[in-house]
Amino acid sequence: MSTTETILVLTHVDESGAVLTKAALEAVTAGVELSRRMGAALTVGMVGRDAEAAASAVAATGARLLAATGEAFAQARYASDAAGCEAICRTAGASVVLVAAGARLARVAAGVAHRLGGVIDTHITGIGGEGTVEATRWFYRQRMEAVICRETRPWFLLLDSGTHAVYAGEAQTAQVETVEVTLPALRTVVEGLRAPLLGAQTIRPDARLLLVAGAGWTKKQPDGQMHVAEAGEQILAFLRLSGASLGSSKSLADQKAGGGNGADQPVLPFLTHMNQIGQTGSTPRHAKGLSTCCHGEEPHAVGWRFIGERRAISLDANCGWTRGKADVVYVADAFQVMARVNALLEADKAQN
Ligand SMILES: Cc1cc2nc3c(=O)[nH]c(=O)nc-3n(C[C@H](O)[C@H](O)[C@H](O)COP(=O)(O)OP(=O)(O)OC[C@H]3O[C@@H](n4cnc5c(N)ncnc54)[C@H](O)[C@@H]3O)c2cc1C
Repeated sequence: MSTTETILVLTHVDESGAVLTKAALEAVTAGVELSRRMGAALTVGMVGRDAEAAASAVAATGARLLAATGEAFAQARYASDAAGCEAICRTAGASVVLVAAGARLARVAAGVAHRLGGVIDTHITGIGGEGTVEATRWFYRQRMEAVICRETRPWFLLLDSGTHAVYAGEAQTAQVETVEVTLPALRTVVEGLRAPLLGAQTIRPDARLLLVAGAGWTKKQPDGQMHVAEAGEQILAFLRLSGASLGSSKSLADQKAGGGNGADQPVLPFLTHMNQIGQTGSTPRHAKGLSTCCHGEEPHAVGWRFIGERRAISLDANCGWTRGKADVVYVADAFQVMARVNALLEADKAQN
């Protein structure tokens, strides 16, 4: 089958400056699949300090490789990234542009689509169609799935991460065409990155596992006492040892200490509402999930929507949400289970 479509996958390199991000390699897989199905030409565009070095990872696609590269693209900045993406799109003459989701390109994609007189759809989870492009996305907090077709071109599709396999072709010497970018006046200088809490980055979209913490961690335990400090230590130890990402129920993320004494600090200080999953939180994609001390409908029915394998540890044997939504429920004390799991992970780490 052949088509008049030209497919472009827009990617960028990671903080090292010379390696494509995981989301970028997922978008490349989507591009390869779509171009094969449509019989369409494929181009991969890369933005970054040393995009040419990154290109070897996708050379096996056989795609035309375009790069906006150099110091101006070393760090994310709207003006330079938008100009770089625009130049790549114009050079590629693409009609369908697949954009790797992630803060860097999500920020500029709509602006670039507008500059090219195109349209954009976001949160795309799948691309199908026979001889046409049909994009899938979810609405109403992941409860309804829609299939979108459009005639306007160029059509930008911002792909949600975790929806495609990471492209894993053999690294090869790449022939990269550097596109000429006319940079506007750059008013923003990126001086560095500041994390909210040093060493406490708990949201890891690329992790295989999501640990969901519920409000039970801060409730009175069978000994009649609260063990909040221990809860924090166990959760952080598990994240450190397993590399998991941390999700939270709303009840836990909402908690502030001190009621009455004026203190307004979160009870678990490494948690923010960015961790919250569910109807009014996020719906992350991970291969596995482990929910602990969590009873709520929203985290289990909505927040867990796209988790592959789900397990839960709850003291409540009758919790309908864990029973209904988890593949395995351990009716047990999460303090005891996680202490044992952490000890096993620690021992495993010491051996390897
Ligand atoms: C409009 C609206 C939007 C909402 N959006 C969201 C949302 O996006 N996300 C969200 O999470 N909630 C949301 N909620 C709140 C939601 O309805 C629940 O109140 C909340 O999810 C409950 O949180 P939880 O399960 O952590 O706490 P709880 O309901 O207090 O459950 C704690 C659980 O921990 C168990 N437990 C206690 N100690 C242990 C232990 N040692 N070991 C094992 N288990 C233990 C208890 O048995 C209990 O089952 C929303 C509510 C509304 C009204």
